[in-house]
Amino acid sequence: MGIEIRKSICRVCSRGCPIDVEIKNEEIRQITPSNPQNGGQLCALGYAYKEYVTRPDRIRTPLRRVGERGSGQWESITWEEAYREIGDKLLKLRAEYGADTVAFYTGYTKWYRPVYQRFVHSFGTLNYGTESSACHQSYRMASELNFGVLTTPDIPNSDLFIGWAYNPFYSGNSQGNPLEEFRERGGRVIIVDPKYTPAAKLADIHLRPDPGTDGALAHFFGNYLIQHGKTDEEYIAAYVHGFPEYKRYVRKFTLEKTAQITGIPEATLLAAAELIADSPVFSISISGAAIPHHTNGMQNCRAIQALLAITGNFDREGGNLPVEYPVDSLNLKVEWDKFVDETRPLSEDGSGYQNSVAWHKKNPGFRAEGRKTCKPKIGSGRFPLWSRVVDEFQSMDLARQILEGTPYPIRAVFALGMNRRMFLENEKLMEALGKLEFFVDVDVFWTDAAKLADIVLPACTSVERAELVCSGPTVRYVSPAIKPLYQSKSDVDILCELADAMELADPLLRRGYEAIVRHVMMKIGITFDDLRSSGAAMKIPGKEPYRPGKSLLLGLRTPTGKIELYSETIADIPEEYGLNPLPTYRDSLPRKGKNEYPLTLVAGSRISTRFHSRFNGVRASDYFRAVPSAELHPLDAQTLGIRQGDAILVTTPTGTMRVHAELTKAAKRGTVFMFQSYADEADVNRIIDGNHLDPYSGFPGYRTVRCKVEGDRAV
Ligand code: SF4
Repeated sequence: MGIEIRKSICRVCSRGCPIDVEIKNEEIRQITPSNPQNGGQLCALGYAYKEYVTRPDRIRTPLRRVGERGSGQWESITWEEAYREIGDKLLKLRAEYGADTVAFYTGYTKWYRPVYQRFVHSFGTLNYGTESSACHQSYRMASELNFGVLTTPDIPNSDLFIGWAYNPFYSGNSQGNPLEEFRERGGRVIIVDPKYTPAAKLADIHLRPDPGTDGALAHFFGNYLIQHGKTDEEYIAAYVHGFPEYKRYVRKFTLEKTAQITGIPEATLLAAAELIADSPVFSISISGAAIPHHTNGMQNCRAIQALLAITGNFDREGGNLPVEYPVDSLNLKVEWDKFVDETRPLSEDGSGYQNSVAWHKKNPGFRAEGRKTCKPKIGSGRFPLWSRVVDEFQSMDLARQILEGTPYPIRAVFALGMNRRMFLENEKLMEALGKLEFFVDVDVFWTDAAKLADIVLPACTSVERAELVCSGPTVRYVSPAIKPLYQSKSDVDILCELADAMELADPLLRRGYEAIVRHVMMKIGITFDDLRSSGAAMKIPGKEPYRPGKSLLLGLRTPTGKIELYSETIADIPEEYGLNPLPTYRDSLPRKGKNEYPLTLVAGSRISTRFHSRFNGVRASDYFRAVPSAELHPLDAQTLGIRQGDAILVTTPTGTMRVHAELTKAAKRGTVFMFQSYADEADVNRIIDGNHLDPYSGFPGYRTVRCKVEGDRAV
């Protein structure tokens, strides 16, 4: 039998790059890029995707725990037995304690999320949480509070591009190309990043603020633009709410004070401010990870976005354009949103997402008869703003609620991909999972969390399943390239089959993925059969390209319909939470402990050959950075008597971790950078205080942690 090439996608990250899967005798020979979209390239992880799919620690069959929790004793069961056991237990808990006693959680990836969320709604609770409690969603909150929508930089039409922690060479494969092309055409670039990165090499000015001081830096620019008459007064008068309050607030971010807070020399600050002031049309990219990963992260994002508002660079060609609404590709997104809402229960205390002002504007008259009411989502007592703006529970409060049982007990967790590595001080999560009455985990590979489950189910990878892929204005139906390995199944098939076994009152969900896809595609003008038989991406018909300025004219989805520098949504949160409607700045690095812990640990710094913990144990990834390491500036290392490769101890007020020293001038002096998902004893999140959280979003402050470093004398 010859070699056959089948089309599929890589789903290690959300980009979903198209791939050619070379098959011989129904086995994968190799995976190569197949798409002009990426300039015929994959990132390092995509090239290693075959190794990922065939990792030796794949979970192979449904398993039932037979020994003590965590003892590693399992027996294989059939899918039917697994569904029956899970269904019986979840329905019994629901009957005895109410649906909210079960927390439904999902880790990465995201492709199945609307189906999962609908499953949770059909079960009767809003307790649906995801890894987005620590990824991107805080940045999205900021955008929605300010503009009512996410934005994207219109780089090709900008005079100046400001990349705030922007390094697509590590995190976005081919996204680096537009920046290179922009530079070649004479566009000016500012990169803001404490680390020296490949993107920083392309910058006219590279600003290296101390981690977490981005809000102060943005306010300095805001103040400078106001003082030098470089704001757009007409635009502000028409479209901006809260400018006088903002103007008063940013006055205190003088050159001297900002240099002191950020650690950037005054001359460099001035040069950057002048470049911005001389560039009337500019766009900004803000990392959805690096900037929000501070205890002031959400407000820092808002502070940066305020620069677009005061200069008229939101919803303008060359500035930042709205995504999602009313951009053409979003027809399908709207249909998926409706699909999720069709079985949505109501919350009893008004803390649910459906009670947000913006949501009601979008869904007038939503409160339909006959919906069940449910308890406030996990985390809504601690993070009311998150709870109001984001349609998920805040997962950073999950372990606490399980352990303390307040405001109500969580007795069971059903998870697709529970991974302890993203949680701070994650021994507490493990303790909480260990105490549950019932825990189910679905995953592709064995994780520490899966080892604590009562039932473990094997999921398959993207090359083994079908998926409706939406990308820009196009849609594509990808069929499986190979049959699922072992007894694994697609996450969506697992959810639909479980819904059927449980006889949930949701006939559509019970009919399976194909029926669901046909349902959401009904109004987009392409039939499912045409899409499936073509196998190619098809353009959603009948939509005009977006015209900048349209969203402003229609009115934004904020309470005032304007850009809100003074957020009325935040102003509506009870005063006792101490949240400020202006994008105010406060330090993220704890004041306490400066003498004992003089360095700043930045956890979560990306390595191009790893993504979360998904590539742990994959040979191609382990080749680089074979041992877990922390990056230090050579001069800091010299002061500490540390040489390249030495074993070192990184200690925070929460704990100590042993890794190896990687000396590099890419690290700013005073900082220690670490990748966050090394296995076991090198899992840096274990030594970060579980309460080091942003009060606005609940996001973990991974990147501003006090620490000290010393050589490991035990070696
Ligand atoms: S991991 Fe790399 S190849 Fe795979 S989808 Fe993401 S960017 Fe594309």
